[in-house]
Amino acid sequence: MPLHLPTVLLFAGLLMAAVTAGIGLLAHRERRRAYLWHWTAALVSTFVGMLLFGLRGLAPDLLTVVLANMLLLGNLLFTMSGYQRLFGLALPRRAMASLVAVQLLAFLWLTYGVDHYPSRVYAFNSTLAALSAASVALLWPQRRRLGWTVLALPIGAHALQVLLGLARIGLTAFDPVTVGANFQAASQAHVAAIMLNSFAAMALAFGFLTLHAAHLLEELDQQASTDLLTGLANRRGFEPALRHEWRRRERLGVALSMLVIDIDHFKQINDRHGHAAGDAALRHLGQVLRQHLRPYDLSARLGGEEFCVVQTGITPQEALLAAERLRAADLCFGRDLQGEPLQMTISIGLASALPEDRDPGELLARADAALYLAKAEGRNRVVRA
Ligand code: GH3
Ligand code: MG
Ligand code: MG
Repeated sequence: MPLHLPTVLLFAGLLMAAVTAGIGLLAHRERRRAYLWHWTAALVSTFVGMLLFGLRGLAPDLLTVVLANMLLLGNLLFTMSGYQRLFGLALPRRAMASLVAVQLLAFLWLTYGVDHYPSRVYAFNSTLAALSAASVALLWPQRRRLGWTVLALPIGAHALQVLLGLARIGLTAFDPVTVGANFQAASQAHVAAIMLNSFAAMALAFGFLTLHAAHLLEELDQQASTDLLTGLANRRGFEPALRHEWRRRERLGVALSMLVIDIDHFKQINDRHGHAAGDAALRHLGQVLRQHLRPYDLSARLGGEEFCVVQTGITPQEALLAAERLRAADLCFGRDLQGEPLQMTISIGLASALPEDRDPGELLARADAALYLAKAEGRNRVVRA
């Protein structure tokens, strides 16, 4: 069955229009997600580029050769800038701008200077292969975080683009007779390659959707694990992190200490100065914990005015000093109506993991019991289990 190039392009263009509209509408709905706009631009570029290719011979070469090729280059660059936005990566913007300029000059020269179709095939497909490989390189480091189910489509699509770019260079170099002098006379192998390229573009569009979905799920998980008031982990975020540290302790034998921290007479702060002052106290204590702890210490608001800190790799004695520093920190969280500073004090229960501890619950129970003692002994103090 012979492949008719304009039909292939028209059909691919129609399918592309549908996915482009889908992602464009999504971008419109979620305006603040810049990566969706970049991918919409990438897909619009492909779609218009394909239509222009299909009009070869019917419209001026400036549109159907130069602009069409530039749009396909735009597709590659917008795809990459979308990844950059999504993953917060740095892109060599200057190099990309230079590539656009060089490609534009090359296509103008290869259309109006020498009008050499094979050279245009080399110019475009070498860029296609190189930028698709660069896209794989951008996605590859995300594999541990996102997993293969998310990356299979976009990486697979880019890998196919690399292969197709190289294949078309090979076809043109080794089979110049069947290539024909121009695009319309392209051999069946070339048409098949162009068709597979459209397939890659379509697979990539669905890849954008899987990346977007994975990003939304990650964001949702992050939100569900974070305490809105303090920005620390909540119980849902804390428990898996604690289990992780616990396994590390079992595997590597690192020391692990836990502080359970509770604001003293917090109810009185709420009753005397209002709920907003109570919230300010909680926010302030969250900040104090962040300032005093190492970035890799776990800290969480377990509920109400109770916080928990887990530190690894320090001795029980060092943990006691750290707890004492927290207790003695500046716990002024604002001023009352008379301009007097609002102060709070905290009580801390400290427990260090013992070799016989089977699960982190035992440690938490001991730290809690120590906190209870700290309260009973008069508050504003650290008690070690
Ligand atoms: P103690 O020194 O024994 O710990 O006494 P306390 O008053 O701090 O403890 P208690 O458990 O009696 O009171 C805790 C209060 O914390 C009661 C509750 O209304 C308040 N609370 C819980 N969550 C929040 C919150 O998110 N914001 C504010 N402002 N108050 C909260
Ligand atoms: Mg309290
Ligand atoms: Mg409490």
